[in-house]
Amino acid sequence: MKIIKEINTLRNFLKEERKKQKTIGFVPTMGFFHQGHLKLIQEAKKNSDVVVVSIFVNPTQFGPNEDFNQYPRDLKKDIELAEKEKVDYLFTPSVQEIYQDDFLTYVNVEELGAKLCGKDRPVHFKGVTTVVAKLFNIVNPDKSFFGEKDAQQLVIIKKMVKDLNFDVEIIGVPTVREEDGLAMSSRNIYLNLKERKAALVLFKSLELAKEKIEKGERNSKVIKNEMEELIKKEKLVNLIYISVSNAENLEELDVLEGKVLIALAAKLRKTRLIDNLFLNIKLTTP
Ligand code: AMP
Repeated sequence: MKIIKEINTLRNFLKEERKKQKTIGFVPTMGFFHQGHLKLIQEAKKNSDVVVVSIFVNPTQFGPNEDFNQYPRDLKKDIELAEKEKVDYLFTPSVQEIYQDDFLTYVNVEELGAKLCGKDRPVHFKGVTTVVAKLFNIVNPDKSFFGEKDAQQLVIIKKMVKDLNFDVEIIGVPTVREEDGLAMSSRNIYLNLKERKAALVLFKSLELAKEKIEKGERNSKVIKNEMEELIKKEKLVNLIYISVSNAENLEELDVLEGKVLIALAAKLRKTRLIDNLFLNIKLTTP
């Protein structure tokens, strides 16, 4: 595995790979790997000849009062895990390498970035799309792999690729969970024992929604209320939102039909967690 910090060095290696007709799979990450990241890497390995993984804690996607400085980092362990997964190129640029002092250009997927998590993280998705667009221009991958865990991010990246004609296929990978159901996240490390236990209610509320839908419930208000009631029982969990939307344009739905995304965000003390459920629902005819 080659560990590369400079854009030009990575480009030169990848040019050679392309000359050999190799397809390139790309997994952008912020590091501190868990099984979710490794699943993305494994999918990339299965679906491409050469795998590039980036580790870059991207400052532009953190708001001024968010956890950019505290965000967990462990490059040494990440290198070991990436080696084990047989990653070909690990790209670990500095902030200066990605954002030079005179940086001025941003990519923003309007409207989609303002919904759901965009309401309490107003600069987040503009930072994500900007860095992903830059990384796509650097790596020029055939395929790029993103977790369904960050559902809104996945929807927005697909839209950016379509709108700006990026020549890359975006592949969504299902959420990897802890044994009890909690969605894996680098931020789970912030949780103390009590919070870790309480956080499970987020997954449970999605399971409850799924159960209701399987029994025929199609009214989004009813589903949201049931989820909220359950979450409220955990005093350590402060719900930020529950959304039931069209999984392609994130428009809120009154009636569940077609491709549906049920997404939520909550805070436990300072830890912001998200989780979601993608569903394909046929409208039941009475
Ligand atoms: P991050 O390092 O948190 O920015 O995540 C990098 C990539 O891993 C993103 O595409 C995430 O959606 C994905 N990811 C994070 N957690 C999970 C998970 N539990 N299951 C699947 N993919 C995940």
